[in-house]
Order: sequence, then C-alpha cells, then structure tokens
Amino acid sequence: MLSRLPPKVQKAIIGQWILYEVLESHRATLQGTGHGAVWDALTGRVLEHTSLEFENPNDKQTVEDYLICLLGHVDTFPPPKSTAVVCSQIKSELRAAVAGYRQAPEDPLLRDFHTALEVTKEFYRLARIEIPASMMRGVTFEAGWAESRPHAYPAPHQLGGLSTLSPRALYVKVGLTLLPLLLDWKTRLAVPYVLLHELVSHAFVGPWTPGVRAQADADAFFAEGWMDTVAFQVHNNVMDGGLALGSFGSRFGHESECLISARSLHDARYASGEPPQAYAARDLGRETANRVLDTFKRLPETRLDPLNAFWRLSAALNTSALAQLNRRSLVLKLGPPLKRCKLSQAPPVVEALREWDASSRAGTNNQDAWDVALSFARTVDP
Ligand SMILES: [Zn+2]
Repeated sequence: MLSRLPPKVQKAIIGQWILYEVLESHRATLQGTGHGAVWDALTGRVLEHTSLEFENPNDKQTVEDYLICLLGHVDTFPPPKSTAVVCSQIKSELRAAVAGYRQAPEDPLLRDFHTALEVTKEFYRLARIEIPASMMRGVTFEAGWAESRPHAYPAPHQLGGLSTLSPRALYVKVGLTLLPLLLDWKTRLAVPYVLLHELVSHAFVGPWTPGVRAQADADAFFAEGWMDTVAFQVHNNVMDGGLALGSFGSRFGHESECLISARSLHDARYASGEPPQAYAARDLGRETANRVLDTFKRLPETRLDPLNAFWRLSAALNTSALAQLNRRSLVLKLGPPLKRCKLSQAPPVVEALREWDASSRAGTNNQDAWDVALSFARTVDP
C-alpha cells in the first residue's frame, strides 16, 4: 500500500498518476494541431515540481496539500495565445481531478491490485479451479520504490513485480516496485499486466499445502514463459472486452492503451538480452504454451473454445502438486512433438491432450482437476 511509502514517494506517484491522466487525454489533440511543444511544457511542469519535492521533501505537508502546490506550479504556465482555450480547459480538468482526489483519496495502485485479484479469481473459476476465500484473503499488496530499473528487459517500462510466498501459510505478498520520478504513462498503463502476471502465474501456485509450496523458486520455462503467456491472454481478454473477462476492463480504464503498453513489455520479456539463458527459457515456455493452444484450436472436441481448454490445463498444472522441475520438463517434452504436427498422424502427446480434455470435463472439483492434470503430466513425462 502507498501509505507505507515515504511521503515524497507517495506524492510523486499520486501526483503523476492523477495529472497525467488528464494531460494524456489531450496529448493527441495538441500534438495533432502542431502544439506538441505546449503539451511538453505542461507535462514538464509536473515533472519539474515532482523532482523538486523529491529532492527537497517537505514531509510535514500532506499529499492532498502537495497536490494543490503541484497544481499551482502547472497553473503558472503561460500558454501561447493559440492554445489559450485548450490550456484553460486542461487546467480546469486538472483542478477537478485534484479536487476529486482530495474529496476521496484513493490509492490507485491498490485499486488496480484489487481489480486484478478479482480478475484472477474469475480466470481460475472459468478454468475450473475454485480459489477458497481463505486463500483470497491471504493475498496482500505492497508498493515499493527503487532508484534504479527494477528489471532488465529492453523495455521502457519502469516497474517490476515480485510475489513472496509465505513459508508457513498459504499467504502471498504481491509487490510492485516503481521508480517514483519515472512513473510515465507507458509504465502506468502496464500496471494491470504486471499485477496479473504476479497473480495468475505466481500467487496461487500449488501445491496448496502450507510449508511445502514456498520451497521451490518459480521456474522460468513454466512460470515465466507458459504462465506469463496465460497472464497476457487474461490481460488482453479483459482489455479488449472479451466474453470471458471483458467486464473488468473499464475498472482499469484506458483499455486500448493498456493493450499496446502491455504488448511491448510482454514482447520485451522474450527479446534476447541478458542473461541469455533466462530469455531462452521463457521463450521456450511461451512457444510450448502457444503450440498447446494451437493444438486445441484444431482438435474437434476443443476447437469451439480452445482458450478455455488451454486455461483449464494451465490452471490445473499451475495449482497442482506437480513439482517445479516437473513443470519444466513437461514444457520440454510437450514442445517438440507439437511443432507442426499433423493431427492425422497425431503424436502420443496429442492423444494425451485429448484424454486429458475428456477427463477434465468430467471433473467436478479442484482435486479432480489436479488428479487429471497430474496423470496427464505422468503420461507425457513418465
Ligand atoms: Zn514472474
């Protein structure tokens, strides 16, 4: 939660979050009419004031009062005559946004976290895994801040996620690390994807046995490649108004922009970089996931809703008692035979997928889903 952060960090995050929300909605108009420099100058004012406060913080001043000062600093910008009308509109929208925050202060990161958590529960429900209320209550959020890049991907997004599983109970803390002075619009739009990656891939990893599940590190092939692919599909289903999860999109807002920003961060996770093994492992996980989905698209029993079949398999494998090492070796065993395979000469893994699908449909609870997933894994990787 933001309240645990130093006041200067809270001010930087809240101030930029609220003000950019308004400024960004006018960017295209100003740039399109040749007034990009005016837009740059207005946003420059926000950044200038944020940096000043960050370097010489006044910790006695509340976030609410700080926002008034920030507004005052933007207000002193003298707009060129030709943009006087639009600039005064922007300023009045900024005043309204700050007044709205002062009336009902809300932590925007916590709000997105709660939405992402609900999306994740619904994703697992659609995939036939019910997350018990006690586990939902055990997922907490903590915002953090850093001075340097929280990840090494070749992407401009300045944020990172980290899930910490409790060693004794089925609790998990989802952390989001931001660089306070670099909370630009692109980064803000990637917040839902980073949260969904943490929640879909890591927060509910199995086995759901206290003391056991926290012992292994997340595997790059499965958790960072395969399940990240699932998290990205979930994100995109939310943001493009998909049938399954589209009703959540408006709660994050800026859906089409989120799609673009998340896409570039997702792709950057798989571009080659340092260390090369980590990229290769993620990439192989993603490729295998896509081949499984592709197979479901072609099989007669799953082609009507291939994504649901793929989500069912992924959710069951991720929450089951399968060890991380076995999840990794499953990725390695499934990938090659599914590459350009002909269903007429189906390799044994395709038969295993069909058997899994039939048994999975007959299941009625989590245990059934896990049993079927484990027996599928044993068939593919004896
Ligand atoms: Zn991860």
